[in-house]
Amino acid sequence: MRAVKVLYADVDGTMVGPLGNLLWDSQRTPTLAAAEALVRAAREGLEVVALTGRARAAMFEFARVLGLQSWICELGGIRIYDRGETVVHEHGAFPGSGVPTAELHRAVDLLLESYPGRLEDHSPWNAARESSFLLRGEVSTEEAEERLAAAGFGWATLVDNGVIPRRYENLTEVERVRAYHLLPRGVSKVASVAGDRAYRALEREETALVGDAAADLDCRGEVGRCFLVRNGLDKDPSLAWVLEPDSGVEVTKATHGEGFAEVVHQLLDDR
Ligand SMILES: [Mg+2]
Repeated sequence: MRAVKVLYADVDGTMVGPLGNLLWDSQRTPTLAAAEALVRAAREGLEVVALTGRARAAMFEFARVLGLQSWICELGGIRIYDRGETVVHEHGAFPGSGVPTAELHRAVDLLLESYPGRLEDHSPWNAARESSFLLRGEVSTEEAEERLAAAGFGWATLVDNGVIPRRYENLTEVERVRAYHLLPRGVSKVASVAGDRAYRALEREETALVGDAAADLDCRGEVGRCFLVRNGLDKDPSLAWVLEPDSGVEVTKATHGEGFAEVVHQLLDDR
């Protein structure tokens, strides 16, 4: 068995606790678990690559604070190497030149007009986006994509990024709030992991991934080991299939950053 060299780690709901706090556990009690795991990974040569829907600008300082060498933003739309020196854009099926959000904002307007009380801007997380936008609410992604295609946005897709465990007063028609990414077809976490492995010439068995949502688990065929942090399952019953013996997904005992730490320690102990 080859040693795992790279761990792709989702950020929100996985590496960090509530409100994006690296030093909180799920109950908002201070913990060093994730920080200590990052230190051990750095000491023992396991590269942690953040794999997130966050915008490039939002990730830059976070990645610097953690000392990451590379990270992947906007759900795979942008891969960053050499601590920011090298930037690889993936625009998928976007037919235009420039950044996809220059066109995608019109698709956002269309969806918001189509689903009053059911969908809204995932404020404040859409500042300075290049490849994708975030929406929140509860809609059928198939139906939304039909509306998009009819308006000339057949190159765009609406991806469910899992449950947001809170309510919003303007989403009056929604039972369980979900986050959605609107982005070009062909841009995804799984495509970015494949692209990153090719870029680094890494075998599947040399990589692992940990996340908390369906878009993370989609990557399981591209990595040697795929982990779901326990809180991902707790908040989204539609992920219960991971408990099947042949799911290809390992579920951690701990939640959030403590679950991330469990994965780091397990990968290093198994070397
Ligand atoms: Mg997440």
